[in-house]
Amino acid sequence: MNSLICTECKKSFPLHEPIWRCACGGMLDITYNSTFPIEKIKHRPQNMWRYREALPIERKPISYQEGYTPLLPFDYDGKRLFVKQEHLFQTGSFKDRGAALLVNKIAQLGIKEVVEDSSGNAGAAVAAYCARAGIKAEIFVSQYAAQTKIRQIKSYGAKLISIDGNREKVADAALKQAHKIYYASHVWNPFFLHGVKTSAFEICEQLGWGNPNTILVPVGNGSLLLGLFLGFSELQKDGIISKLPRLIAVQAKNCSPIYDSFHHLPPGPKKKTIANGASVRHPVRTKQILDAISTTNGNVLRVEESEITKALFRLWRKGFLVEPTTALTFAALDQYETKENEKIVTFFTGHGLKSLNC
Ligand SMILES: *Cc1c(COP(=O)(O)O)cnc(C)c1O
Ligand SMILES: [Zn+2]
Repeated sequence: MNSLICTECKKSFPLHEPIWRCACGGMLDITYNSTFPIEKIKHRPQNMWRYREALPIERKPISYQEGYTPLLPFDYDGKRLFVKQEHLFQTGSFKDRGAALLVNKIAQLGIKEVVEDSSGNAGAAVAAYCARAGIKAEIFVSQYAAQTKIRQIKSYGAKLISIDGNREKVADAALKQAHKIYYASHVWNPFFLHGVKTSAFEICEQLGWGNPNTILVPVGNGSLLLGLFLGFSELQKDGIISKLPRLIAVQAKNCSPIYDSFHHLPPGPKKKTIANGASVRHPVRTKQILDAISTTNGNVLRVEESEITKALFRLWRKGFLVEPTTALTFAALDQYETKENEKIVTFFTGHGLKSLNC
């Protein structure tokens, strides 16, 4: 049965219920019976909506024809990879996948106003899609967030609410507002993850309906990792792939709560990191992130600031102007032993033009 389901009390709700959290306070997931009619999919336009039998939405009134980003064969320091170029979306990051599905859902529910909080890319993606859909967006940001990203959010006409405090304080303020206004959260709202999962579908199709052995993914709130896990799990369930790729999460040593939990270490102190897109001290979906990594026989790696910077400059010098957060997984490749014929996928998660002044 297709429905919203509470991760705590297991109560289920119809998909058209305008809620983002259960009455018990629990987080919601979506159960959806996804199918992949390959012959039909092949003939559809090359964008993320080609997997329509796997998307929990009835129609798509608003779109930039987004998705189907190129999967680039890439030689990184002698290691052969495929890089999914997710920095090529309308707002310059993979967050557009989540925002596209979520804002379309919101438009279909007839909701006219939403709230979201983000230090940058998720806020920009939600603001852009809301602008396109004629929905009012209120975006809470920390006044310490990157100025270019704040300006980007403002440019789409969103109402900016700048909070004097860190990310946790900003999230608290947004949560309070979410008692009155629908929360288009990239962390809480399960429709966001069901947009991000299309990245897995595309990778699979671009590999000839096969799956990679290993996926290296930066983790902050875990929306990319969880979206990929969801996507590959659905492909497996429908018999398209037989095995899930190993998910290798990468964090900055200066902020590595998932690394600490996974390796049973006491939580380390949080320090500033250049990988600001993954600088999240308490990811709301921590348990799900750890489950996904274990289920796929994956691992969590962490990298030093100097390694991130080195990897970033190396990518830039090769002609790829990406965000510092993107460099996490490339920095981790130095400590990752590849096997022969191992198919590895990683991502250009965000465009470097957003963070040249950071
Ligand atoms: C959001 C983001 C990440 C981290 O993704 P999470 O979903 O928070 O784990 C990595 N890189 C960029 C550019 C991002 O915007
Ligand atoms: Zn509940």
